[in-house]
Amino acid sequence: MVDTGWDTPESFAALQRQVREAGLNLKALGRIIITHFHPDHYGLAGRLRQLSGAEIWLHQAEKQFIESRYLRPQVLVQQMGEFLSANGVPQGELDVLQRASLGMLRYVSPAMPDKMLSGGERLSMGQFEFELLWTPGHSPGHVCLYEPDKRILLCGDHLLPTITPHVGLHVQSRESPLDDYLDALDSISRLEIDIALPGHGPSFGRVKRRIEQIRHHHQERKAAILGQVKGEAKTAYQIALGLPWVLESGGVGFQSLSSLDKRLAMTETLAHLESLRRERRVERLSQGTLSFYRRRD
Ligand SMILES: [Zn+2]
Ligand SMILES: [Zn+2]
Repeated sequence: MVDTGWDTPESFAALQRQVREAGLNLKALGRIIITHFHPDHYGLAGRLRQLSGAEIWLHQAEKQFIESRYLRPQVLVQQMGEFLSANGVPQGELDVLQRASLGMLRYVSPAMPDKMLSGGERLSMGQFEFELLWTPGHSPGHVCLYEPDKRILLCGDHLLPTITPHVGLHVQSRESPLDDYLDALDSISRLEIDIALPGHGPSFGRVKRRIEQIRHHHQERKAAILGQVKGEAKTAYQIALGLPWVLESGGVGFQSLSSLDKRLAMTETLAHLESLRRERRVERLSQGTLSFYRRRD
């Protein structure tokens, strides 16, 4: 199995039903490969291992998050609070935003992995010979599985057909997750793929075209952010306030987002800012504990 879904009764029942319909038995499951540790992909891993004895395989960069996110999240909540505060989130909103992901914990039955992956492995599964590709960005240890003969890509949340995968800079990301992400997109665009099977939404073809659309989206977001910080230094929070969000449905203001989405919007703004900083198009200024960004001209 590649990815498990949330640990909810509905999700588990749907999985059981579909496995049965496919003429298979969940108890016979031997191996669960997790594309990344997010609750919607990893949530049922512990429960499924208990049921079947299957091994859980995960990229080595993801292992640390099981402990820090799912087993002992308090330190992370604290660090996230400091990080959001330094990036301009006002005190009145801080508490809600720093705790915004805690509600996810009840959808996860955590389990430590049995095997750690690093990318480049070849995995034999019945008639398929998958190659494991490390594709950091959406998550530091995100992996895709590629079948070169059958030209199939199992792409987790690295590539999605209708929405752009979230890429955020925060206390647990790598240094420039958006640059990681765009590099990993480049490596995928060099592959011959007839069908991509994503973590959300239907399977799709024309992968190179989809990659171009996503690349274009990030260029547009960078341009919009540059427009926000022209001649004026702003915190990431102030920038996020000035940008449209949920572009797929026409765009809404930051303040109408849920607290979790506000936090994702903040970390996504910061990922673009860090990439722009590396391109020497913006600079970061510190004032006390606050960080500001300004366009370099
Ligand atoms: Zn994800
Ligand atoms: Zn997902």
